[in-house]
Amino acid sequence: MAGRSGGCLCGAVRYTLRSAPNVFGACHCTVCQRISGGINLAFNVDAEDIAITGAEAVRTYRSSDWAERSFCGTCGANLWYRGLSEGAGFSLGLGTLDDKSGMVLEREICVETKPGAYALAGDHPRLTSTEAFG
Ligand SMILES: [Zn+2]
Ligand SMILES: [Zn+2]
Repeated sequence: MAGRSGGCLCGAVRYTLRSAPNVFGACHCTVCQRISGGINLAFNVDAEDIAITGAEAVRTYRSSDWAERSFCGTCGANLWYRGLSEGAGFSLGLGTLDDKSGMVLEREICVETKPGAYALAGDHPRLTSTEAFG
């Protein structure tokens, strides 16, 4: 499947992908919890593989010393996480995709801060932040 597409809730920000990602991750860190309201489900694309329209509506917040998070300034939808290094790729929110069919949960990270009230099903790696980032 080539050319997945997606965008925010109101449609001000849209993107198309030249790559065809089919896996996503789940992050349970406390920053992702505050940004997303729960679990941050996201997939990675290289910077050269995404074309964005409506970029003027994008607002960006520096969430750590190494990354920023972007959202739509009109509807508030979370869009992506991106490292600050030159040419860094995008970690796009799974929920921004128009069609999530074929997307498979590859792994969970930062499981030590996951609330006990829920758990994701399936047989996949569940890593602590130390295991994920060393
Ligand atoms: Zn929007
Ligand atoms: Zn996180």
